[in-house]
Amino acid sequence: MNNRDFDQQHIWHPYTSLTHPLPTYEVTRADGVYLQLADGRRLVDGMSSWWACVHGYNVPELNAAAAGQLQQMSHVMFGGIRHEPATRLCRTLVELTPAGLDRVFLADSGSVAVEVALKMALQYWQSRGQPRARFIALRQGYHGDTFGAMSVTDPDGSMHRLYKGFLPEHRFIPAPQSRFDGDWQPDDILPLRDLLQRDHQQFAAVILEPIVQGAGGMRFYHPEYLRQVRNLCDEFDVLLIADEIATGFGRTGKLFACEWAGISPDIMCLGKALTGGYLTLSATLTSEKIMRGICDGEAGVLMHGPTFMANPLACAIANASIALLLDSDWQQRVETIARQLATELEQYRHHPVVKDVRVLGAIGVVETRTPVDMARLQRLFVDSGVWIRPFGHLIYLMPPFIIQAEQLQQLTRAVGQALDLMAEDETIKP
Ligand code: PMP
Repeated sequence: MNNRDFDQQHIWHPYTSLTHPLPTYEVTRADGVYLQLADGRRLVDGMSSWWACVHGYNVPELNAAAAGQLQQMSHVMFGGIRHEPATRLCRTLVELTPAGLDRVFLADSGSVAVEVALKMALQYWQSRGQPRARFIALRQGYHGDTFGAMSVTDPDGSMHRLYKGFLPEHRFIPAPQSRFDGDWQPDDILPLRDLLQRDHQQFAAVILEPIVQGAGGMRFYHPEYLRQVRNLCDEFDVLLIADEIATGFGRTGKLFACEWAGISPDIMCLGKALTGGYLTLSATLTSEKIMRGICDGEAGVLMHGPTFMANPLACAIANASIALLLDSDWQQRVETIARQLATELEQYRHHPVVKDVRVLGAIGVVETRTPVDMARLQRLFVDSGVWIRPFGHLIYLMPPFIIQAEQLQQLTRAVGQALDLMAEDETIKP
């Protein structure tokens, strides 16, 4: 059986069926902003491998960090052992993140960082003698695929009904409607205010993605919402967890999206771009107050400790990635990408299949009126020399920050071709 057939018959890809598998493309190399296919074609990457590869691929500085660390040790357990790559990374994260977040837990993926955040909040309330087992989350939010993370992800988006009876049930409030670039609508905060006024003693924390709701709809909301959520959490003594796994490290134009509102959450999750896109790693940060609550409690410890915790290779690469980012003119680059995305995608606003166009930082989104045919559009994109993976009603771009103007234009043009194809399909339909 050739590799293609084996792949289609035996290997699951994200969110796919093995009886009706979607086509896959074999990548043999990746360099800079390009993915090289086995058939010789070269594609401009518009996805940064799901937010992670902000510097592009095969990055000399990250390769050197990995090779250097390999000569020392690629892994060692973190129980009872410390190592410089982890210490350095945690120092840097404490320094860079919003004020007060100075205690760090390193874990192995974004979803696990969210699990750890939920555990921190639960243990904090237990130690205060007021056990609280429920969370407040936003509709259209996304926090990962493990059970805790999924339980606070939009119930329809993550198909809660499949796991009913097993999945903890939390409270969902409507996502804010005030757009990032629009007027603040004061009613947006009412559902949270009402819920907290009625029942605040039940809730351990509010969990949200600051400013950008990613996989749940690629929505950008008004910073005032985040400010007011912070105020309500303070007023009613409920913790705030900010999931910056997608937004962290410059993607929105600020180093962390919380900075748009000038707030510090009680707990923050980081992942994806933290890693430079090389090896899976995540971090959950919290404050001294929460740490003390957890450690003064009955257990006295934070009950988590994965095998690959603080993997030295991943930490060394993350250190190099953050240094490369901070040494670059990332803010200027993200602004330049934002301007070009805004100009070039805005042309499609009145296209018959388009419902909305929005851009924030190095994220460009075209929302369509009808769902996209992923496999069909993917083929068109590959034939046009670009890698874009649409889903639901969304065709979106979040390229590596190193992308050049002509390469970005290739991406935005291909989006236009995809919209034309969708329009053609619709006119053919009876
Ligand atoms: N939170 C957010 C906001 C995410 O975008 C993601 C990944 N798409 C996750 C959590 C989960 O991260 P991972 O896929 O690394 O488990």
